[in-house]
Amino acid sequence: MKLLKLLGGIFLFLSLISFSFAENKALVLQEMTWTDIQEYLKNNDMVIIPLGSTEQHGPHLPLGSDFFEAFEISKLISSRTGVVVAPILMVGYSEYHSGFPGTLSVKPQTMEQVIFECVEMLIKYGFRRILFFNYHGGNNIVQENVIHRINHNTPAIAVSIGHGSPIQKAENGEFFDWHGGLNETSIMLYLKPKLVKMERAKKPEIHFTPQMKKLRELAKENPDIIYVWNSLFGVPEKTGKGGASYELSSNGIWSLSDPRLATRERGIEKVHKMVEKAVKFIETWKKVK
Ligand SMILES: [Zn+2]
Repeated sequence: MKLLKLLGGIFLFLSLISFSFAENKALVLQEMTWTDIQEYLKNNDMVIIPLGSTEQHGPHLPLGSDFFEAFEISKLISSRTGVVVAPILMVGYSEYHSGFPGTLSVKPQTMEQVIFECVEMLIKYGFRRILFFNYHGGNNIVQENVIHRINHNTPAIAVSIGHGSPIQKAENGEFFDWHGGLNETSIMLYLKPKLVKMERAKKPEIHFTPQMKKLRELAKENPDIIYVWNSLFGVPEKTGKGGASYELSSNGIWSLSDPRLATRERGIEKVHKMVEKAVKFIETWKKVK
């Protein structure tokens, strides 16, 4: 077991070195000129669109965490694959976080419409493969809908490669560490360390409703029932289900873990796994014209 851990550590270290040496500059649409795009389209028709949010992330992480995560991870993927990244929105669907100030939100239909109209522009110029890198659970429904709309109404093909994508199969990590907890704090310590206020990180008091507690009990015998448990979270206060952010959590963090235990190394490992899966997927897809 110790040897396995050691080997794993060495592998991670080596892949990080090759990571930083092999890395080219990420291509970001807003940093390019129209002639750059014209050149790019002669050899490539792929574009990565990051989807994130501007919403409370506890007392220690910036409101833009999900946007930064989606954008920075997309850039890491771009630097490995040469695919251009085109951010469209810094906001997502986050209404249920609005019990904490600073959170911005657009309705799922609004978000879908804005993204679809921008994708129509990209298609006009010759982009044909649209890859969404989402990093906010609340956007999954938008991502699904816009992908379907693109695939069924335009000559382009759209897929997801981030949160909510079949290529990023969830690993069995901590139970309930969804938002601003150990993992996300670790990821931000890697991607945007200057914006993390570790001295303010604090374990939240989590308030599960009696219904949630009962479902958790039942899940010990039938794990499938956790599906219902999951659907009670991240719903606006007006639904009366007790699943809005401030109803669930004393400080906005949704986790039973302790964010004070977060480390940059843990963040590197998490991010690197996601990047690897996306890079492998893109390189394989490049072989099909
Ligand atoms: Zn987040």
